[in-house]
Amino acid sequence: MTEFQALRRDRTSWTPMFIEHLEAETCIGCGRCYKVCNHDVLALMGKTEDGELVEPDDDEVERMIMTIADKGRCVGCESCLLVCGSHSIKMIPAAEAFAA
Ligand code: SF4
Ligand code: SF4
Repeated sequence: MTEFQALRRDRTSWTPMFIEHLEAETCIGCGRCYKVCNHDVLALMGKTEDGELVEPDDDEVERMIMTIADKGRCVGCESCLLVCGSHSIKMIPAAEAFAA
């Protein structure tokens, strides 16, 4: 697999890491990842007692969790990973993401 590299403005290279998975069991719905993501990748949802995902304002919501709404919009900045205190976000390198 060829390693994919991006360029910083000073032309040094770095490897983007894209969001791949968000673990619903450990996410506490704090919203920190959502606040730092500027690319419409994430969506806050409600979870019912039966484990069903519903709109956040639904009467049946037991707790809030973050979900991946559109992983295709991720630019690989890793900001969400850095702010998640519950280690719920899994990233993969760009080469692996593009191979999928
Ligand atoms: S890596 Fe960056 S662009 Fe991708 S979901 Fe996280 S904050 Fe958003
Ligand atoms: S920062 Fe982590 S715990 Fe908080 S909503 Fe995002 S994934 Fe869930």
